[in-house]
Amino acid sequence: MKDINIPNPREIEKEISDFLAKKYGNQVKIVSPVVVPEKEHGEDTAAGSAQKDHIRFDLRPEELIGYLDQYIIRQDAAKQVLATKICTHFNRIEHQRQTGTDDEFEGRIKNNIIMIGPTGVGKTYMIKLIAKKLGVPFVKADATKFSETGYVGGDVEDMVRDLVRESDNDIDLAQYGIIYIDEIDKIAGSRQHYGTDVSRTGVQRTLLKPMEETEVELKVPHDPISMIQEVEQFRKTGKREKRSVNTRNILFIVSGAFSELPDIIKTRTTQQSIGFGAKISNSAEPTAILCRVKAEDLVEYGFESEFIGRLPVRSVFERLSQKDLLSILKNPNNPVILSKRLDFATYGIDVRFSDEALDLLAQHAYDENTGARGLVSAIEQALIAFETHLPSINIRRFPVTPEVIANPETILEELRSGRETFPGKAEFARIAEENRNTIIDYIKSNRKKLADQYGLPLSENRIEAIADYYWNNVVEIGTAIGKIKYFYDRIKKIEIDFYNRHDVNIVLEEDAIDFIAEKMTNQSLNIDQIYRRLSDDFEYGLKLVRDKTGKHRFFIPGYAMEEPEAFLDNLIKTEFAKHNLTPESIKEDREQ
Ligand code: ADP
Repeated sequence: MKDINIPNPREIEKEISDFLAKKYGNQVKIVSPVVVPEKEHGEDTAAGSAQKDHIRFDLRPEELIGYLDQYIIRQDAAKQVLATKICTHFNRIEHQRQTGTDDEFEGRIKNNIIMIGPTGVGKTYMIKLIAKKLGVPFVKADATKFSETGYVGGDVEDMVRDLVRESDNDIDLAQYGIIYIDEIDKIAGSRQHYGTDVSRTGVQRTLLKPMEETEVELKVPHDPISMIQEVEQFRKTGKREKRSVNTRNILFIVSGAFSELPDIIKTRTTQQSIGFGAKISNSAEPTAILCRVKAEDLVEYGFESEFIGRLPVRSVFERLSQKDLLSILKNPNNPVILSKRLDFATYGIDVRFSDEALDLLAQHAYDENTGARGLVSAIEQALIAFETHLPSINIRRFPVTPEVIANPETILEELRSGRETFPGKAEFARIAEENRNTIIDYIKSNRKKLADQYGLPLSENRIEAIADYYWNNVVEIGTAIGKIKYFYDRIKKIEIDFYNRHDVNIVLEEDAIDFIAEKMTNQSLNIDQIYRRLSDDFEYGLKLVRDKTGKHRFFIPGYAMEEPEAFLDNLIKTEFAKHNLTPESIKEDREQ
């Protein structure tokens, strides 16, 4: 036994690798993790982890506005009102719960919200983003559905039950949900339509109670599914518990375009201005007029005053201009462009939009007169032919130029024939550079905010790494920053690992970290490969210096990554000189 040379783990790994290579060629290789794998960035925020404990009660209105700014163009007034009131709503509940001051005063008013604004300007988007950030469930329905079915109470109760479903059956969490009812203007009674008035005001009245407080049974009477669920619950817990949701803390948000409202406001102010007060000029923007809306205008519009009374917060959304639509397209977090990039990436095609093409798409979308909703149809229409045919042609990079949008058939024909008339390659490179710079500029102009938010100092190199990651993958900008931050943290862990394994304390300088991060993003090297390379390059040299000079802490600059030998030579020379050693004396030492 004594004579058997027991190999170390590295040698074993090599032997097994050689064996596998002989047997299977390069198809199989073994990978032994050096650093204990950690959860990937973002994993823990995955949906499904919804629990009341995860609600962000610590969030402050300004932080929420900052978050919305990353996604939503314009709508500053609405951002402020909604972020503030929704934040306060949830924080107030939590505050009351913690201090036990629940129910301390009668007549408490819930901050339910009415949003006024045309279609496709970000109303739903904003509420969704807020709900996501706060970690509360959200459901949406159209008020038109209520009046059609004639069973309004049931519809509202269904929405409450949907909240429970959205919360993974966590009733506690569902009680903190947001219920959003769109097209509320459709249930306004009208002075002209006497016939339908009754049912419409009836719908409003049915909403009054849930908007304030009511208990909603989870069990739908005579519904087989809920009966099965009840049996299942009994089987699991042995208890037959009463399962109901209280709507007391559920926030109700309603919205609509209210197209005739500006006229009503104008008439009122004109009448009032005969006596005193400010008159609205005829040329005033609808948004400017709507900002002066009062409860009495909404009553005039056809709402019961009790109904309006339960919607104390009002928020007006502005119409979006063509320039705004272009800004939306250029926003790196814009879901329309991201999902189109993803559609093509599915077929291995990298699609890029030139600034001029985006301009044209914004123009097409604006002509549809449906706000930002027109963007989706404009892009679909422009690219559908390419989405059909490019996956069958060997094309990996597809630049969308105004020409592509204007003459899809011609371009497709050229692409199919493989002729070089379509300036594909050069154009793609130009657009890719333009795209990269757009992201770099975006990060630079939000540098401080983003650095604070993600806890990552944003050096020039890092900004470029983020831009590269953003374009090499189809992700939001926050995900790209999170990823680079994740690399950064993992790279920092190499120091600890190096110390544990080699008993040598290394400190990777910022530019060295950037160098490694760049290798990880652009050459898809993983952390194990990086670690192995570092060990191969530095272990021996650093140990030598440590053993001979007693130095045990080494700063590794960026250039050492590229030229480890030059770095070590230099290090040995300077450190040895300090101790009157010469490299030759080491050699002699070793030879003896
Ligand atoms: P609505 O105002 O009718 O509720 P949405 O919020 O559903 O419209 O908008 C539709 C889509 O258009 C959103 O998902 C979003 O992608 C985009 N969008 C709308 N408004 C904005 C905006 N102000 N900023 C950025 N994107 C927007």
